[in-house]
Amino acid sequence: MNHSTTLSLLSSVAMAPRDPILGVTEAYNQSTHPDKINLGVGVYYDDRGKVPLLDCVRAAEAALQLDPKPHTYLPIDGLAAYNKAVGALLFDGCTALAEQRVVTLQTAGGTGALKVGADFFRRFFPEAQVWISNPSWENHAALFESAGFVVNHYPYYDAAGNGIDFAAMLEALEHVPTGNIVLLHACCHNPTGLDLDEGRWEQVLGVIARRGLIPFLDMAYQGFGAGLAADGKVVRRFADGGLTVFVSSTFSKSFSLYGERIGALSVVAADADAAARLQSQLKRTIRTNYSSPPEHGARLVATVLGSAPLRAMWEQELAAMRERIRTTRRDLRLRLEALAPGRDFSFLTRQSGLFSYTGLDKEQVRRLREEYAIYTLDTGRICVAAVNSGNIERVAQAIATVSA
Ligand code: PMP
Repeated sequence: MNHSTTLSLLSSVAMAPRDPILGVTEAYNQSTHPDKINLGVGVYYDDRGKVPLLDCVRAAEAALQLDPKPHTYLPIDGLAAYNKAVGALLFDGCTALAEQRVVTLQTAGGTGALKVGADFFRRFFPEAQVWISNPSWENHAALFESAGFVVNHYPYYDAAGNGIDFAAMLEALEHVPTGNIVLLHACCHNPTGLDLDEGRWEQVLGVIARRGLIPFLDMAYQGFGAGLAADGKVVRRFADGGLTVFVSSTFSKSFSLYGERIGALSVVAADADAAARLQSQLKRTIRTNYSSPPEHGARLVATVLGSAPLRAMWEQELAAMRERIRTTRRDLRLRLEALAPGRDFSFLTRQSGLFSYTGLDKEQVRRLREEYAIYTLDTGRICVAAVNSGNIERVAQAIATVSA
C-alpha cells in the first residue's frame, strides 16, 4: 500500500460522538459567565468547590516518602497487600472469604475492573448477553459493547414517581436467559441516586439464583450512601448467596484518588480451586491488556487500610464527605420547598450518594444553561456535591424557576 492510500484510508475515520459527561464540562469551561456552575461532574467537591486531598492520603504519602522504593513492575494482579486489604474491606465477615474462594485483583479504577471482567466473560461466554439498568452510568453499555457484547436494559427508573419501577425490573429479570450477565449498582445508583431496599435486593438475588444468571455488582461509591458497612451489605449478601459473583470497586471517590486509577475486580467462586483458576485467567486478560497496574495508588490505599490510625482517619473523612452530601440534599430540598410551596422535592432526600435525578427534562436543562449558566446533563442528573453554601441559593432559584 503506498503512502497516499494509507492517508486516505485513515481520513475516512469519522469523528466520535462527544462524551455526554465530559462534553458538559467542556461547555462549562467555555462559558465566560462570572457565576457559572457545573453540576454535571462525577466528582466529590468540598464546600469550597475543591476536590479534597484527604489527610489520610497525605499521611500515607508522607510515610511512603520516608521509605522510598524503586518503581519496578507490580505483579499482573497488582500489589498483594492492596488486594488483601480490599478483599477484607469488601467481604468482611463473609463465609466465602473464610473459605478462600474470593480473589481480588487490582485494576485501573472501577472502569478497569469492568473492562477486565467484560473481556474475561467475552472469552469464556461469548454467547452471553449483558443486562444493565435503564438508565445507568453511560460507560457501562459502551464498555460491554466495546468488549463485543449485546447490551440490553432492564427497567429501573420510574419517571412519573421519581422512584424505581421495581415490578417491571423484577419481571424483566425473570425473562433474562440463563447464563446472561446482570450488572447491578451495589449502592448509590448512578445516575438516579435510587437504591433498592433490603427486601427488594432479596427478591433480585432470588431471581438471579433461580434463573442461573451471573451478577456483576458495580460499587463505585461505598461510604457515600449510608456508611461503609451499610453500603457494602449487598456485596456481602451476594457473596454468601451461593452464587459466582463479580464485583468491581474503586477508590476514586471514597479516597478522592481519581487520577491514580485505583480499583479492583473481585470474584467469588464456588470453591478455592475454582477461584484460583478464575484468577489465572483474569491475569491473562490483564496481561494482554495493560500488563500490570500502576503502583502509587495501591501503595497509598494499602498503607491507609493497613494502619489502624490511618484507617480511622479515613473513615472519619469519608463520613464527613457523606454527611456533607446528606446535608446538601436536605438544604436544597428545604430551599426548593420554600421557593415553590406545594411542590414535591422529597426525591432529594430519598435518593443517596453523589447524584440526584431531578426530573428536569432536556428543555429545562437547556434553560438552566442559557439563563443561569448552570451546566448539567440533559438527563437532569446533578452532582449533589457540586452544590455548596456559596451557590445553593442560585441553584435552588434556577431549578425552582425552570421547573415551575
Ligand atoms: N461505576 C460507576 C457506577 C461509576 O459512576 C464510575 C465512575 N464515575 C465507575 C464505575 C468508574 O470508576 P473509576 O473512575 O474508578 O474508573
